[in-house]
Amino acid sequence: MTFTVAIVGRPNVGKSTLFNRLIGKRLALVDDQPGVTRDRREGEAFLFGLRFKVIDTAGLEEAFDQSLEARMRQQTEQAVSEADLVLMLIDARVGVMPIDEHFAKFLRKGKTPIALMANKCEGKVGDIGLMEAYSLGLGEPIPFSAEHGLGSSDLYDIIKEHM
Ligand code: GDP
Ligand code: MG
Repeated sequence: MTFTVAIVGRPNVGKSTLFNRLIGKRLALVDDQPGVTRDRREGEAFLFGLRFKVIDTAGLEEAFDQSLEARMRQQTEQAVSEADLVLMLIDARVGVMPIDEHFAKFLRKGKTPIALMANKCEGKVGDIGLMEAYSLGLGEPIPFSAEHGLGSSDLYDIIKEHM
């Protein structure tokens, strides 16, 4: 069975950027508009010799009949149920938002191991968000930059540890 990693979090935190980095192809759509990835995507990820399946979640701008939270929750639940490890991303430049807290609360109830990633942490502007991230109750956040690759060796260690 393939080890499966799900990337979850509210729109615009950098999930698809991380997904693209891991699969090494421009498969997922990345855009400045929140929630631009239309479907859930999966691919084969490589990270310093580790090989695993990765799931990118989104599709949040569709299905207007539901609240944003309900849609995020639905997609997240599905991905989490398939995953051996969940990477929850926050935007460290923005800090912890109420919707991040919703996510964290939901994830804390499950049995799947969670790694909390404080993304967009390149430079000092991410420091406050990184500190705030402790309040989510998901353990120590990993300072990360999906765009620049900062924190990739910590991510490697976490994935390796759970494989
Ligand atoms: P998603 O909605 O969670 O999939 O987020 P995306 O991957 O589409 O990224 C949303 C925006 O954040 C895009 O403009 C990305 O270029 C930007 N972004 C993603 N990762 C980083 C990062 O590590 N640092 C910075 N500064 N911007 C990032
Ligand atoms: Mg996306």
